[in-house]
Amino acid sequence: WSKDTIAVVTGGNKGIGFEIVRQLAGQGTTTILTARDESRGQQALIALKKDGLDVIFHQLDVTDPRSIGKLATWIKERFGGLDILVNNAGVAWSSCPDKVLAAKEVLNTNYYGVKNLTHALLPLFRPSAAGSRVVNVSSMAGQLAAVGNNKWKEQLSGEDNLNEEVIECFIQAYLKDRAEGVDTVLLIPNKEVFEAYGDYTLSKAACNAHTRVVARDLANRKEGEKVFVNCMCPGITSTAMSQNKGHSVEEGADTAVWLVLRPASECVTGKFFLKRQDRGFF
Ligand code: NDP
Repeated sequence: WSKDTIAVVTGGNKGIGFEIVRQLAGQGTTTILTARDESRGQQALIALKKDGLDVIFHQLDVTDPRSIGKLATWIKERFGGLDILVNNAGVAWSSCPDKVLAAKEVLNTNYYGVKNLTHALLPLFRPSAAGSRVVNVSSMAGQLAAVGNNKWKEQLSGEDNLNEEVIECFIQAYLKDRAEGVDTVLLIPNKEVFEAYGDYTLSKAACNAHTRVVARDLANRKEGEKVFVNCMCPGITSTAMSQNKGHSVEEGADTAVWLVLRPASECVTGKFFLKRQDRGFF
């Protein structure tokens, strides 16, 4: 990896994303720190510069298609393409009192943000012997075991039949649940837990499923044009999201950075990782 390697990290202004940027820049890659808020992004850049790290900033709100489009155009014009995408930006909940709108807000960042940005940047991945990398920062919360309804669990685990339409139906079934005040998709036994974490669980389950879809669709690319697509859980990490509980951001970022930097000969695709361990189909 060198200055010629172009890496893009979403939600890079704080928490795990900031640490991923710090570590990737420290490895000598040209790292693009993106943040939805221009001034928070610039502040992060200043902090990294103090540590001697040369990082580039570009605004990106993953829920805004125009913002995604602007980033894609800028990457193409300035660098001709990219090699690494870390979809890290995420939210845990929404304060919106309307349950359906709240769920949509969480999904817009944690699922549609990942999906739309990945589709926008995939055509820009450059051929290379090392293969391009997509790492989705997801969560154990979205593991298949968290989906209680067996019909949906089976649909999401289908090797060949899983696609974006199936994931969309899964999301719509959950939004219907939210509108009707019931839980027929996740079947979380504790109502309080459902209320607090249902949206997040659903969004990360959709993100994990999408990782498998994209990985499978790209799996037959020939040598030199490979894209390795995986998701991972940082573990409970001390950030704003976890109210500063959990292990260090260095530990939280470790598996994502490892997935980005590991040699192509060791890479797999379409898997879920925790603590550098391949947890397989998740
Ligand atoms: P933080 O809340 O510290 O950081 C989240 C980052 O995402 C911030 O930079 C935030 O920007 C950004 N973000 C949120 N919405 C958008 C958006 N629409 N467009 C662009 N950026 C956005 O959380 P963490 O660092 O803890 O979380 C990073 C990832 O790790 C998330 O995907 C999370 O789900 C996952 N994760 C975290 C765990 C933990 O224990 N911390 C455990 C498991 C998974 P802003 O500052 O503007 O709000």
